[in-house]
Amino acid sequence: MQITSGLPEGFNAGAYDMIVVGAGYAGAVCARRLAETIGYRVAVLERRSHIAGNAYDCADEAGILIHEYGPHIYHTFNERVHNFLSRFTRWTDYQHKVLANINGTLMPVPFNHASLKLAFGDERGEELYQKLVETFGKDVKVPIMELRKKNDPDLAEVADYVYENVFLHYTMKQWGQTPDQIDPSITGRVPVFVGDDDRYFPQAPFQGMPQDGYTALFEHMLDHDLIDVFCDVDARDLFEIDETTVKVDGKVYGGEIVYTGPLDELFNLDLGALPYRTLDMKFETLDMDQFQPVGTVNYT
Ligand SMILES: Cc1cc2nc3c(=O)[nH]c(=O)nc-3n(C[C@H](O)[C@H](O)[C@H](O)COP(=O)(O)OP(=O)(O)OC[C@H]3O[C@@H](n4cnc5c(N)ncnc54)[C@H](O)[C@@H]3O)c2cc1C
Repeated sequence: MQITSGLPEGFNAGAYDMIVVGAGYAGAVCARRLAETIGYRVAVLERRSHIAGNAYDCADEAGILIHEYGPHIYHTFNERVHNFLSRFTRWTDYQHKVLANINGTLMPVPFNHASLKLAFGDERGEELYQKLVETFGKDVKVPIMELRKKNDPDLAEVADYVYENVFLHYTMKQWGQTPDQIDPSITGRVPVFVGDDDRYFPQAPFQGMPQDGYTALFEHMLDHDLIDVFCDVDARDLFEIDETTVKVDGKVYGGEIVYTGPLDELFNLDLGALPYRTLDMKFETLDMDQFQPVGTVNYT
């Protein structure tokens, strides 16, 4: 494998069985699988100056590993996925925890036994918790929609509190939507965890963080004799697409193409832009060992 910036002089797309556009998860996994299972020669084109897509991480000036496009937390229920990725990295035993700052009190999310006591006080919180255990059993995740379906005033009280304090304003803030624009099926999915486990993914058997970071994981995944990676190359500058053919660099391309970029861009926004939404990350280095008790605090 080689990772180069730009295309070499006389780049010959015809020398590759497949061109993959994008070196994020989708592109890197396709490239690796096609190279190692059916011996395809693969060219990966990436318009950014680095691989790993949105999962890219790097050290900042203070030497701290940062996730440039937003924090990425690894967890999966799928053993096959985990075995595949584990070929390219070791994992730390990081277990993701999230606290919501609700009127100045930090409460575990998803809402659990401890959160109920913090929100409703020890006695009432315990009562509500026991009602949840009686109704649904222990160590289960229950969407608030299920709480409402029971027509029980105690369970409705829990559902309303979680909806109002954990979901509503936070979601409006993040997605720029008013409650009536948010589909009720989405609202109803907000879970309560009936138990004491305060991890964000209490039931996921595989979780952690890649020991040397995500970018290193991608480097290893793309490290194959049949894969070449070209960064700083926007495929749109190279491709001409019509009804029946794709030309690459002016010549009809006979191989296959996997495109993992935004769909609307691929068609020059002919039908308008899709309503994607993203986040702007702001980085600040503080002179202290640890700023907050867990990796993520939601200011709901
Ligand atoms: C803020 C944030 C937090 C997230 N947190 C998590 C998390 O905790 N856990 C989790 O599992 N997932 C998380 N995700 C989702 C995760 O980032 C995506 O699921 C994953 O990156 C998708 O991989 P992908 O390959 O489809 O797309 P991307 O990672 O976006 O990769 C696509 C690549 O294609 C390139 N590209 C696009 N168009 C072109 C072109 N014309 N020519 C050349 N290259 C092109 C792009 O530059 C990009 O590098 C998060 C996403 C964001 C934005």
